[in-house]
Amino acid sequence: MNHTISERLFSRASELLPGGVNSPVRAFRSVGGTPFFAKRAEGAYLHDVDGNTYIDYVGSWGPMIAGHAHPNVLDAVARTMVDGLSFGVPNALEVAMAEAITRIVPSCEMVRMVNSGTEATLSAIRLARGATGRTRIVKFEGCYHGHGDSFLVKAGSGVMTLGLPNSPGVPAALADLTLTLPYNDFDAATALFDDMGAEIAAMIIEPIVGNANCILPRDGYLQHLRALCTQHGTILIFDEVMTGFRVALGGAQQRYGVVPDLSTFGKIIGGGMPVGCYGGRRDLMQQIAPAGPIYQAGTLSGNPVAMAAGLATLELIQTPGFHDALERSTHALCDGLESAARDAGIAFHTTRAPGMFGLYFREGLVETFDDAKASDTTRFNRFFHAMLERGVYFAPSAFEAGFMSSAHSDAEITATIAAAREAFALL
Ligand code: PMP
Repeated sequence: MNHTISERLFSRASELLPGGVNSPVRAFRSVGGTPFFAKRAEGAYLHDVDGNTYIDYVGSWGPMIAGHAHPNVLDAVARTMVDGLSFGVPNALEVAMAEAITRIVPSCEMVRMVNSGTEATLSAIRLARGATGRTRIVKFEGCYHGHGDSFLVKAGSGVMTLGLPNSPGVPAALADLTLTLPYNDFDAATALFDDMGAEIAAMIIEPIVGNANCILPRDGYLQHLRALCTQHGTILIFDEVMTGFRVALGGAQQRYGVVPDLSTFGKIIGGGMPVGCYGGRRDLMQQIAPAGPIYQAGTLSGNPVAMAAGLATLELIQTPGFHDALERSTHALCDGLESAARDAGIAFHTTRAPGMFGLYFREGLVETFDDAKASDTTRFNRFFHAMLERGVYFAPSAFEAGFMSSAHSDAEITATIAAAREAFALL
């Protein structure tokens, strides 16, 4: 594959942007090599500036659940944009979006739209702190909740990929208020709450950890956390920026039957436009300004074009059977990859939820952050490049979940597994 134009662009970008990118994992630092620059995308495919085509299992890191450039989404954007790009006064699409989210996710009685997942999680913990009068929060090792100061403590995603779990620039006085727990450890959570439960404003968790590859909750684990939070007056926040509207129409909270106090969303509800959202119990959300005293605002929040793209996407995923089909194709891909690895004698394991998956170069179950870290990342990196060379783009990090869309049909899955057979043979 020729990457001349991408290489030239990346070299120029590296003089102008830190690391050549506007978001760290895009730089291919952990897998090595030069990122390719996109020219356009359609369905399950990304096309780069050098004319190469890739089956895309990143999907812009989650939003593109209906495939890239879906005509319904593009139409909605085109129809909306001619009326103006931003108004600075309320618009009807914001109400339609709030109606859609509160209908699909019953735990969200009210919502506030923001512009990114980071803004959503920052705002949610401010609300939890303001509502409880407590300062401490709890997060889980390997979970990523955006780049807010309070969350850059034992975080996953790019911070983990780059080995920066505790970022410089975060005041210790603030970081000290963030307590961390090992994900899927029942007793550690109980012990922490026995010790300090009365001081903890919020517990925030990715119900399925998509930022340390893809780790699923053990049976009863989310229920256990729910019970602890209820018992100690702590606000339970499900960060469903990745899992929302993906692992079930109503997200992980629907899939596992656990009702959080607050939820955060992003990605899918913007259909590829910049969006975030937090929502939850009415009595809590009523404390947000101007209904209440806890301040949070945004010049472009509820942007009409973003609302239109998100609403069109939500429309598509409410087609009957959408998530069942996504689940089937995720299993078909993962089963195929596992069988190809087995035939090649490679230690390999996958984890899956509808529309998202983890790839691990190791044997055995992956249920904890330590299990995920025990994956052979050198092998992953070689596999990543062997696949890229064969026109398949997986996330450029051993610690990011992969994403499927409704545009990934049998043809793409079969081609991916065939490429994987060749790639595994090279390892
Ligand atoms: N929470 C989770 C679970 C995420 O996966 C991400 C981003 N991948 C965020 C929050 C932050 O969202 P954003 O990048 O839109 O700020």
